[in-house]
Amino acid sequence: MTDHPLQAHDGPDNYDVLICGAGVAGLAAARALGELGLQVLLLDKQRAPRDIAKGEVLQPGALRVLRRWGTEAMLRERGGVDLDRLVVRGPDGAALMSLDYGQLPQGDRGLLAHDHAQILGALTEGLPPGVDIRRGTLVREALRGADGRVTGLVIAHGDGDSQGGGDAGRSQGSADRAVHAPLVVAADGISSRLRRAANIAGRRVDYPRRLVSVELAGAGADSPPEDFSAYVTGRGLRLVYPLPGGRVRLYLQTEPDELRGMGADRFAAWLGRAVAEVPALTGFGPALADAAGTRQIFSVSRYLADRFTAPGLALVGEAGYAVHPMAAQGMNTAITSAASLADQLARFLPAAGGDGRPRLDAAMVDAALDAYQAERRPLLASAAKTSANAARMVTDLAWPGRIVGRRAVRCTGANPRLLHTVTHNMAGLGPRPLTPLDRLQQIGLLPDPRAHRVPVG
Ligand SMILES: Cc1cc2nc3c(=O)[nH]c(=O)nc-3n(C[C@H](O)[C@H](O)[C@H](O)COP(=O)(O)OP(=O)(O)OC[C@H]3O[C@@H](n4cnc5c(N)ncnc54)[C@H](O)[C@@H]3O)c2cc1C
Repeated sequence: MTDHPLQAHDGPDNYDVLICGAGVAGLAAARALGELGLQVLLLDKQRAPRDIAKGEVLQPGALRVLRRWGTEAMLRERGGVDLDRLVVRGPDGAALMSLDYGQLPQGDRGLLAHDHAQILGALTEGLPPGVDIRRGTLVREALRGADGRVTGLVIAHGDGDSQGGGDAGRSQGSADRAVHAPLVVAADGISSRLRRAANIAGRRVDYPRRLVSVELAGAGADSPPEDFSAYVTGRGLRLVYPLPGGRVRLYLQTEPDELRGMGADRFAAWLGRAVAEVPALTGFGPALADAAGTRQIFSVSRYLADRFTAPGLALVGEAGYAVHPMAAQGMNTAITSAASLADQLARFLPAAGGDGRPRLDAAMVDAALDAYQAERRPLLASAAKTSANAARMVTDLAWPGRIVGRRAVRCTGANPRLLHTVTHNMAGLGPRPLTPLDRLQQIGLLPDPRAHRVPVG
């Protein structure tokens, strides 16, 4: 594997697939498409993955794919933590709604938590030999044919990281370089420039509140959390789950400007107060002073693209679909979408040529892209709805949303049939949309005579 910025005359100018972005989505796409025997160039403007807290909990749908690739085993060997429940709790710790993964089909009965950097590392290590990965390489724009089809990428010559995070204009005197491929994958995140270049519209909603995350080392040693717990409080969500090595991740919802300009000492005091308000978390007290130094603050948005393809181009990961982090869905759909794209392409790929490599052409790619769009768009639209509803249930602080949300948590928690459906949907095992009748029963407006009829599987 090559891993340095792409230079002017370095490597071929033609590949089967170009992928912009080496986050979870781009790495998963490179893995899945590389396994078809295709020559793949994977580009990222960052010189090295950033060691940040986003994306640590993998759902069974993604684990099915990672198991096939050996990535799940790698993460387990490196200390990945198994979780068997997602629980919504009151501040005192009482479970209001418990999504028990033990009721899912054999093999899908748990979640796996690990550091985001470890997940990226395990995906990178598993890349097949046909994948050329170049970090520190900024993709400037998409190349288009006369008919508007995306035919390649224009890459900044030099180091993408040195150009203000890669979104700056052309650097003086740099010679840009064109690389070509019948398939380009946009895995460049929620602000995807390739999506914009292809004029794919979508709906972005910014949540009014932010999230701050801290990592607690040796926290709550007396009683480390055993599951993924979302504590619903009057000041917003507090989310807790275990990480390898006895560490704990804690997310707290904040007002947009609540932490602005707060130095380390004031933040440590704020954290102490926020945790003290949740009696179930007071055991974390001694670990909070050190944890304050690990804070990361995120603004939160959701996004759904109107289309996941344009001629020659596929969107994977947050380039097409982003949801509130509390639902732990983003990596899941990024990984399953990457696998789906490769599965669709495999259907149209001819047998390998004399050199043992299959040859891709535009007609094949477009047939596969049509199939990818037809399979993914309805599925992700449904997953987006599930995630948005789940997020609203536990994060909405405006009084109407709060009343309906808490009611939905309580009524769903007391209804085994709905609990099973919601668990299945959150696990990413294929959509089982709630009907309008289900929704009325979920907020207790109608009784549910079938509440104890739990679907099999
Ligand atoms: C706080 C938080 C917690 C989360 N928790 C979970 C969780 O527990 N479980 C879960 O499943 N999901 C979670 N998510 C969501 C998950 O992290 C994301 O869905 C997933 O990581 C997105 O991956 P991606 O590859 O699509 O995008 P990104 O990770 O954003 O990767 C995009 C990549 O593209 C590169 N890039 C962008 N533009 C260019 C360019 N022009 N040229 C070259 N490179 C470029 C960037 O450098 C970046 O590396 C969480 C998200 C957040 C913010």
